[in-house]
Amino acid sequence: MTLLIERRGEFAVESVSLDAIAQRFGTPCYVYSKAALVDAYSRYRRAFADHEHRILYAVKANSNLAILKLFNNLGSGFDIVSGGELARVLAAGADPSRIVFSGVGKSQSEIVQALAARIACFNVESEPELERVSRLATDCGVRANVSLRVNPDVDARTHPYISTGLRQDKFGIPHEQALALYRKANQLPGVRIAGIDCHIGSQLTTAAPFAAAFERVIALADALRSEGIAIEHIDVGGGLGIRYRPEDEPPSIEQYVHALTSRLGERRLSIMVEPGRSMVGNAGLLLTRVEYLKATPERSFVVVDAAMNDLIRPALYDAWHEIRALNHRSPEAARLCQVVGPVCESGDFIGRDRTLALEADDLIAVLSAGAYGMSMSSNYNSRPRAAEVIVDGDRAHLVRARETIAELYARESFLPE
Ligand SMILES: *Cc1c(COP(=O)(O)O)cnc(C)c1O
Repeated sequence: MTLLIERRGEFAVESVSLDAIAQRFGTPCYVYSKAALVDAYSRYRRAFADHEHRILYAVKANSNLAILKLFNNLGSGFDIVSGGELARVLAAGADPSRIVFSGVGKSQSEIVQALAARIACFNVESEPELERVSRLATDCGVRANVSLRVNPDVDARTHPYISTGLRQDKFGIPHEQALALYRKANQLPGVRIAGIDCHIGSQLTTAAPFAAAFERVIALADALRSEGIAIEHIDVGGGLGIRYRPEDEPPSIEQYVHALTSRLGERRLSIMVEPGRSMVGNAGLLLTRVEYLKATPERSFVVVDAAMNDLIRPALYDAWHEIRALNHRSPEAARLCQVVGPVCESGDFIGRDRTLALEADDLIAVLSAGAYGMSMSSNYNSRPRAAEVIVDGDRAHLVRARETIAELYARESFLPE
């Protein structure tokens, strides 16, 4: 789905113009389309057809309560990575039997919180974590469902910071140790083996690494079965990439799901997926306004009111986001420029070497910003976090108010005199 629509000279998300949104809610502002969010979920749902499956939205991609509630109402489950995310999905009304808990560093209190909520499954990442879950579950008088996150040693060929399935990564249990740890789990009093889990990275642009990882965990499932350890599900994690540049061609949701279901053969296993970026990434944009044009002898800068604290992906991963000028200036006015924010870091850029026709006060849309935008935002430089708006047809709903300055230091105090 195309998020940014141009109609009769106006730029809009669904039927609401971005000018109107900027007027009403200010900038910088994240704008999401409800229809695009629903579409992404529905495509996963349809692609699995009647194959047994569970879609577990990876909350960290965008954890706004309104988005969580929307996915919950559609039937989605959730993949969480912290006690904070557990509290969020419960606040959004999620059914605990559709929540799985991933992450390499679950604390005691987070595990207890998740046991008390009776979540569906812990994706366990190490032997000490397995022992901890078993002990805490025993203390609580319950048995926790677990799957072990296996590191299949597959190169996701993505950015090193978001590649997680190689031997040297901190994530998961090395493939060759998995069988022994499953045998151990089978003996522990506080756990019940439910599945196998893996997650090899994010923003994957080909299906081959998913297929390779899936084949490795299927082989492990077969080996477990032959030892009398039957598992119910394979959780393949998230990681499907989205189109950031027009020329990007990641597998479609349908191709990705087919690459999984077609490899199961006769096995009666449920497939779980934990998509984050591919559920929300192209359903959101960051709306920002030009403050200044600034030319140095070397370069032309466009200083906008959004910064790396709002959208850190360019600074952190050297990520590329399409930038669209929401005006109708003559193409001859376009010039090579650096789109930067007000933060005091040279790494504070939104886009480098872009050809754009812009003047002060113009609006800009930074596309594909629905995932890992707001959820990775910070208050660096004491900048209040942006507002978030969801457009539904011809209506725009504020789903997170812009932070106030007073909120930024409300929890701070002075030393005694
Ligand atoms: C981040 C993450 C996901 C979601 O990844 P996307 O690339 O956003 O789809 C899923 N599962 C786990 C364990 C993760 O850490």
